[in-house]
Amino acid sequence: MATNALSGFPPALVRRLVIKIGSALLVDPAGEVRVDWLRTLVADVAERKTAGQQVIIVSSGAIALGARRLKLPKGGRGSLEDAQAAAATGQIALSQCWASLLAEKGITAAQMLVTLDDLENRRRYLNASATLERLVALNVVPVINENDSVATTEIRFGDNDRLAARIGQAARADAVALLSDVDGLYTANPHVDASAMLIETIETIDARIAAMADGGSASGMGSGGMVSKIQAARIATGAGAHLAIISGKVDSPLAHWANGGKGSIFLAAQGKGARKGWLAGRLTTRGRLIVDAGAEKALGKGNSLLPAGVASVEGLFDRGDVVDIVAQDGRVIARGLIEYDSAAAVKIAGRRSEEIAALLGEMPRSVLVHRDHMAMV
Ligand code: GLU
Repeated sequence: MATNALSGFPPALVRRLVIKIGSALLVDPAGEVRVDWLRTLVADVAERKTAGQQVIIVSSGAIALGARRLKLPKGGRGSLEDAQAAAATGQIALSQCWASLLAEKGITAAQMLVTLDDLENRRRYLNASATLERLVALNVVPVINENDSVATTEIRFGDNDRLAARIGQAARADAVALLSDVDGLYTANPHVDASAMLIETIETIDARIAAMADGGSASGMGSGGMVSKIQAARIATGAGAHLAIISGKVDSPLAHWANGGKGSIFLAAQGKGARKGWLAGRLTTRGRLIVDAGAEKALGKGNSLLPAGVASVEGLFDRGDVVDIVAQDGRVIARGLIEYDSAAAVKIAGRRSEEIAALLGEMPRSVLVHRDHMAMV
């Protein structure tokens, strides 16, 4: 029986959850979606949503599905072009499947296809983050995959484990669950070593833990494996989210885990603080926003920074750059990702939110620096 209170990622402790499903779970060896199993997972998702948990899905399986339909060798992974054609063909079937199964439970699905660049580039990171936030607020379940049909080798994640961790970061999720064909992290490869033991809770990813991963995807279908799962765990925990590896080889895998099933949990570095620590630790800030006393007080209470509270803007920066937020007496009081570039920031500094659309001639963002992308220093 699991001892960790987080086991099963209960809705009371995990408000927002990213669930990643690997190709081998979604697609059978004949290249068809494992609809019956998927329906049990969707039932899990519906149950969690009813309990108040916000769910985001990262789904693999496009390449595996498309390869079968196009009769491509090596599961569609023989060349980049094959993988891209397979992904394009498989993705449309995959999203149809998710949309109809979620609809059976009265849930609206939304599709987002992203590349590495979309989440590394700060400007697009903010866009993806805002879209996810909006979808979740609208009670929709985003279903996300890598945009494999356009991503080239250099700009690919390549595995959805790391993609799920990055999505967890962008969506400010409390936790990420990787559903896999293994039920956790073992001291050695359990497929070949009978003495291998499952590690239930991992507090720090040290060299000993990293050495337990042996790489490669056991199923030969996805591109993950334990190495990519540990990389994903580093990203997620560093961003303040817990990450679990659990088995998807059973029906209703989330309910199964919550009822005492096996799994390994990598604990978030320092809870929510870590994500902000990551922000506060950025060495290069590109600009300074000097704020008035009212704004300083509002930030201290945990509010976002509105243009009205900014007295002056210094530096040249792009949307998504890190800027210092500075009090009247020159103290740096916070640091955050800015929603506008410097030219626009100068125009709207000191102005009321209602004036912004007219000043910029574009659809305004709600704030200058959102509290979720800000750390008090
Ligand atoms: N994005 C790939 C697909 O949909 C899967 C990547 C992975 O294997 O993790 O087929």
